[in-house]
Amino acid sequence: MAVSHSLLAFQQRFPDEAHCAQFLLERRWPDGFVCPGCGGNRGHLLRSRAYTYECVACGKQTSVTAGTVMHRTKLPLTVWFWAAHLMATHSNGMSAQQLMGQLGLGSYKTAWLLAQKLRRSMVDPEREPLKGVVEIDQSEMPFRADETFFEITKSGKMLVIGAVEIVDHTTKKPQEPKRFGAKYLDTMSGRVRLAAIPSNEATHIHAFIKANIAPGTTLVSDGHASYLGLADYRHDPRVVGSMAGHVPLKWIHRVFALLKRWSLGTYHGLRRQHIDSYLNEFVFRYNRRFYRHVSFETVLGLATRHGPVAYWDIIERKNPRKASPTIRRQPRHRKTASGFRQDGAHTSNAADPSLGDEPGTTE
Ligand SMILES: [Zn+2]
Repeated sequence: MAVSHSLLAFQQRFPDEAHCAQFLLERRWPDGFVCPGCGGNRGHLLRSRAYTYECVACGKQTSVTAGTVMHRTKLPLTVWFWAAHLMATHSNGMSAQQLMGQLGLGSYKTAWLLAQKLRRSMVDPEREPLKGVVEIDQSEMPFRADETFFEITKSGKMLVIGAVEIVDHTTKKPQEPKRFGAKYLDTMSGRVRLAAIPSNEATHIHAFIKANIAPGTTLVSDGHASYLGLADYRHDPRVVGSMAGHVPLKWIHRVFALLKRWSLGTYHGLRRQHIDSYLNEFVFRYNRRFYRHVSFETVLGLATRHGPVAYWDIIERKNPRKASPTIRRQPRHRKTASGFRQDGAHTSNAADPSLGDEPGTTE
């Protein structure tokens, strides 16, 4: 079975901290260590500070987790790797509750923070807008009003707008636009985008279209008045009328159906407060549904298309720790009179991650 084979392969590839750290080293410095401070290429791997290099030339310490979602982590790397793998590959994703159980984490808060951090990596900042022929529609999603037991009859509703590319089933390429009203046959769904909107008003719908769909795209919709009035797009409204909406807009309706099933099944209803991160998670997994097994690297913040610095530029804005100064329990050791302090020379607590002295507190 594909899933168990994937799990076994993953377990064999990342059995312990050393293998995870080695993987990160190879991702970060494919041609060997390069000091981000001085450009020197000789460094010692510290034993006192987990997965951290100290530059021979300038003494700067650089963690292999810097620039990834694991920055300043106290959790073992194996936990991060497993969590990313589970969230990326499991077809329904993982709730914090499920992660806690699967990984044997000590508290719900730890699991929740882990899931939230991983979820933040589930947006590609350089993603390309949808193009070609795109189905667009809105749907009401139930959400949990509070933390009490979720009952669908007592839940609130929120409006979600979605767009999905219509892709040619044979060529797997974006569908060529046809004359207005023409049927698109032998298609499949391509990439999807979702967002919560406060109302059906044109201003919200237009903002979503401009942010997610390339100009010149053909928009196939139910003809709602709020879609009109965008000069840069080709609007191809379908008369839904008394027909079920899923007939003329089959792919976006399938996306909404999956979204509802997922939100009820995995999360027992979405929460309004975190709606954007949940929608991002759904979109991330949907858009990678044919190659989930490699997407765990992206979830770990290891997207190879961007350097770690570019990634941090994005994350920093959301980093609540940024404003508070780093509290060090011990002074940093960079250089000593006799040369470079490699490790173990001071009695650090670093051997036990639970005692603080977090790995990766340098850049
Ligand atoms: Zn250096």
